[in-house]
Amino acid sequence: MTLSAAGWAQVQSVGVAGDGEFTRITITSESPMRPDIFLRDTEEAGLVIEMVPADFRLTHAPFFAEPTGGISAYVLETDRIVFELDRPMMVMREIDLPPSGTERLYRYILDLSGVSEARFQSAARRDAQRFARFEAERYARAEADLLNPPVLAETEPAMADLPESPSSKPAGFGALINMAARQRRVIVIDPGHGGRDPGALAVIGGKESEIVLKTSLKLKDMIEQDPRYVVRLTRETDVYVEHEDRVTKARNWGADLFISVHADAAGAPTVKGASVYTLSTRGEARIEGTAKKFGWNLPIEDGTSEEVSDILQDLTVRETKSNSAIFAEFLVPELGQAGPLLRNTHRRQNLFVLLAPDVPAVLIEIGFLTNKDDAKRLKTERGRRKSAAAIKRAIDAYFDRQDLLIATN
Ligand SMILES: [Zn+2]
Repeated sequence: MTLSAAGWAQVQSVGVAGDGEFTRITITSESPMRPDIFLRDTEEAGLVIEMVPADFRLTHAPFFAEPTGGISAYVLETDRIVFELDRPMMVMREIDLPPSGTERLYRYILDLSGVSEARFQSAARRDAQRFARFEAERYARAEADLLNPPVLAETEPAMADLPESPSSKPAGFGALINMAARQRRVIVIDPGHGGRDPGALAVIGGKESEIVLKTSLKLKDMIEQDPRYVVRLTRETDVYVEHEDRVTKARNWGADLFISVHADAAGAPTVKGASVYTLSTRGEARIEGTAKKFGWNLPIEDGTSEEVSDILQDLTVRETKSNSAIFAEFLVPELGQAGPLLRNTHRRQNLFVLLAPDVPAVLIEIGFLTNKDDAKRLKTERGRRKSAAAIKRAIDAYFDRQDLLIATN
């Protein structure tokens, strides 16, 4: 296959901002780009993030922002950009944004997060094989192109025709400030029951309180592998925690998401499958009174009129409700990957632990302890891992969506 110049994304600018804990690289180009990214520990430059395009190139000098936020230098080549790092960082997400509003360029965003040297090295070892394969293929293609040169489109802009730097600032900086200020997302996992309250009993033996604690701990491990999140558990041992304390803890920790983990029970032993609960309309009517009773106050400035604070309260509750529902909708298909689903998987109920006015919250019933297959699934390491991985994928989808909303606003 031959590529014409029109198929290449012309890079216009490269921007970097952040503090090394969280750093964002934003690249603007005239057409969409999807480069391959490799973490490498190189002899010449130490730790680097190498961006090897299959589909972009630098036909003129793009506008480069000063290196910062853990990036000590850029090395430009005609077909790649190498970001030299002064500390280990990993890619936590890529975002592609098409032109929108006043932004006429495509934006390719790479979010990096500070990690330990060991984590970087293990990722770099994985990437080394991929990189070798990639380079070998490119080399083979280049050889073929020599025999059969690509046709360059006549419209390829000459260097002199292009402005030295685009008038638009690299995008994503507003979003970055938001995200850097927020730091990591706090996920609160609430293993149901505990202590004097064992919850449901499994037909094959075992208590809900123990089973959901194990799943919660597995989920915690999994989420903690990801530098984007901080995880807290409302209980880590077999103790009873009052419902209001579970919510109070979550709010005091600044929870961005609250996930209560339970397992179900039914009269009929054939009933099985996971389900997800968010607050019902009846529950919503309880929020105001409950929040007042337990002091779950919103950070509204002193001196704000009652009318205005009522409106703010309303807006917050509404946003929390819609975010809970969105997360629940992300959860359903993922839980379906981990096991059977109960019909009408996303349900609504008046549940106390979902009453925080300002923390999106769901309660997951990971399966039925009264069903033999489900009980086995929930009690095995493999089953636990599958449920936890499903929840983790939904968490990622939920926050990716939020970041996208922030980045496009
Ligand atoms: Zn329960």
